[in-house]
This record gives sequence, structure tokens and C-alpha cells, in this order.
Amino acid sequence: MSVDLRRQTEISMLDSARFFFDRAADILKLEEPLRELLRYPKRKLIVNFPIRMDNGKVQHFEGYRVQHHPVLGPTKGGIRYHPDVSLDEVEALSVLMAWKCSVMGLPFGGAKGGVKCNPKEMSLGERERLTRRYASEIAPIIGPDVDIPAPDVYTGEREMAWIVDTISMHHDGQFMPGLVTGKPLVLGGSLGRDTATGRGAYFVAVQLIKNMKMKLEGSTAAVQGFGNAGSVIANNLHDSGAKIIALSDSRGGITKSTGLDPHKVMEYKEKNGTVVGFPSSEKISNNDLLELNCDLLAPAALENQLTEKNASKIKAKAVIEVANGPTTMKADEMLYERGISVVPDILANAGGVTVSYFEWVQDRAFYFWSAEEVDLKLKQFMDSAFQRVWDMHVEKKVSLRTASYLVAIDRVAKAARARGIYA
Ligand code: NAD
Repeated sequence: MSVDLRRQTEISMLDSARFFFDRAADILKLEEPLRELLRYPKRKLIVNFPIRMDNGKVQHFEGYRVQHHPVLGPTKGGIRYHPDVSLDEVEALSVLMAWKCSVMGLPFGGAKGGVKCNPKEMSLGERERLTRRYASEIAPIIGPDVDIPAPDVYTGEREMAWIVDTISMHHDGQFMPGLVTGKPLVLGGSLGRDTATGRGAYFVAVQLIKNMKMKLEGSTAAVQGFGNAGSVIANNLHDSGAKIIALSDSRGGITKSTGLDPHKVMEYKEKNGTVVGFPSSEKISNNDLLELNCDLLAPAALENQLTEKNASKIKAKAVIEVANGPTTMKADEMLYERGISVVPDILANAGGVTVSYFEWVQDRAFYFWSAEEVDLKLKQFMDSAFQRVWDMHVEKKVSLRTASYLVAIDRVAKAARARGIYA
């Protein structure tokens, strides 16, 4: 059952990546050869490799690395470990990364990687051997000037450190920090990477509120998913005077019309493992949270949360897509028709890849920035990307999602045209 549901998500992820691309390509009147080039990734690598497990037996694993086009610079994207990882999913995510990097004005194309495995059932030693072998398998197509991996689902700084060590060993032991981002600080990671996605989404929310001629102070917000990204945007909005009227996690949600203090909710969650039961709050389901009357709604948990079933009941004035793909294609259309502004994932959650870019820049210079410097530059990148998208949205009278794709695809198309065809 869960496999079927996931397969539908995969199909819709690849479908929606192509749908949003086609819609923007039509508006841009993209010439056919460029449309063909940019609609699909440049390179899809499938690797099969053996790992010796702790019980002495050898098990085979399948992994992938997909790269969209390195028109503007090296490709960039995370590596995920999950039993349901597939080539289609990795392809869709590589395309989304391409538009995310482009809309932010980063000198990167998109990429994604993954290994079909269940890390929860593997020992630390097995995960290390898997990571080092997978890194060796994709070594011919990654590198600081070629393709730069990063963490994603069930991978983190430990895996990134193993990858840097493995590939550095392939280069006479020469330490190559610019090879991956999301590394531990001691190996050339960047300050501010851990909070970058939520912080970037907050900067986007501030700009949106300003452009919608609303005031942040006294506005109301609901955040679904009180994890890494969701807790940071909730804290930042609260600290700027917004009222957080609801928060949630996988166990359920809480609401309080006079406002919750997300810092206190985090202390409670750390002790109790969930936000549910926070003193003086009322319980609310994750679905009902989405339909609350508020100014800002930030889905920061899972894909496919705003669907054609609930889009007509959403009362928020604006949606900030902190999660990847929280709105289905149909719901997106319905929300636009209802005048609800939706800042799409490729812009709203791009703070993470932006600070990854800063990490890569610092690694290449072997010169590291203060947390304040990272934060200031992140704000500059988020503000200017938002403004480019807002201007396009006003000029072409299209949704913020379509405007984001127009900005992103137009930039890559211009670069590809300028380079011409080597044939
Ligand atoms: P996380 O694991 O730290 O947090 C996810 C939160 O969602 C947790 O609080 C979890 O309890 C909650 N959750 C899980 N299932 C839920 C459900 N059914 N209903 C409500 N809440 C549920 O993850 P994160 O890093 O904060 O990522 C959140 C989203 O943001 C994901 O879609 C991720 O792809 C996207 N994203 C994250 C980053 C990043 O740098 N962290 C970057 C880009 C995009």
C-alpha cells in the first residue's frame, strides 16, 4: 500500500516538474531545440555495487546520480538513502534543483543522487562502506568543478565527511573540501547551514508581506511540520512580532488563538518528543491546521498537503512552501484562482542550497566567514531572488510559481543560447 502511494507521488513529481517547465517554456516561447535540451537531464548514471555486510554476506545495492545541465556551472544536489528511491524520483528532483539554483542566481545546474537501501536497518559500519563505495562508483562524474553532492533524506554531515575522505584518497590524499557541501564545520562546513532553509523562507515571507502591503507585526501564521526548517521560520516570524497560531509534527498539531511561543514549544518538544500537549494549547489535526484562518500558512513537512480536496477551504492569504512539493498541480491552480499567493518551493526553501553555495565558495578560497556575514549574504540573495520573481509576476500577470519558473528557465536558456551548440 505505502509503495503504491509513493509510486503515485513519484509519477506526480516528475509529471509536475515537466508540467511547470512546459507552462513556462510556452510563455517564454522557448525554441524547440532548447526546450528538448532543458526538459530532460543531461546525464543519468545507474550504479550497481556490492557491500560486505556485518554478517559476512555480500549484498548488492543500486544507486543513481542524475545531472541536469551544467550550463551555468557545476551541477549541485543532495544524496538520499531510502528503500523507495528510484531513477524517476532522482530525475524529478534533479530538474527541480536546476530551477531552484537558477531562480536564486547561483552558478549551478541541478543534480540529485540516491541509493535504494534502508539505512535504519544498517549498522554504522555498513553505512560507511555503502557511502564510500557509492562515492567511488559516482567518482567519475562528481568533483568541485563538475557536480557537488550534499545531504538529503537520511544522509547528513557524517556521510559527507566519508565522501570527501574517499574521493580525496582517489586524488593522492589531497583534501578536497569543495567536493560536497553540508560537511562538519571542522572539515570546511559553513556556519548558518543548519538554519539556512528556515531563515531563507522567513526572508521570503517578509518580502511577500511587504509586497502584499501587509504588516508582519500582528500578522498570524500557522506552520505544519515543526522540524529543522519549520521551527526556524516559526521562531523568526514570532521574534518579528507575528502571532504563531498553530504548529504541528507527525503526531498532531496544537493551536492557540492568542499565539504560541515557538521557543517554548521547542523546549517542550525536546522533553516530550512532540508538540502535542503543550500547556494552554488546544489539539488540532494536521489537516485542520491547514484550513485555519491566518495570514501565512507554511507547510514545512511533506509533499501533497494542499490538494484539490482542501484547496477551496484554505483561508490563509499566502502560502510559503517550505517543504518540497506541498501543493499539487490542481490545488495550485485553485489557490491562484482564489487569489491566494503561493511562494513556490524552488524559491521559498532555496536558503539551504544558497548557503551550500556559500560553503563551496568558502572551501574553494579556504577562507571562512562569520555567521553574521553568512546571514547578511543569505538575506541579499533571498531578497533579490524574491524581487526578480515578484517583478515577473506583476509584469506577466502570472502566479508566483509560474513567475519563478520563468525567471529560472529564462536565465538558463539565455546562457545556453550565448554558448551556442557544439555539434
Ligand atoms: P525535519 O525532519 O527536520 O522536519 C520535518 C517535520 O515534519 C518534523 O517535525 C516531523 O514530525 C513533521 N512531520 C512528519 N510527518 C508529518 C505529517 N504527516 N504531518 C505534519 N508534520 C509531519 O525535516 P526538514 O529538514 O525540516 O524538512 C522539511 C521539509 O522541507 C521537507 O519537505 C524537506 O524536503 C524540505 N526542505 C528542507 C531543507 C533543509 O535544508 N532542511 C531544504 C529544502 C527543502
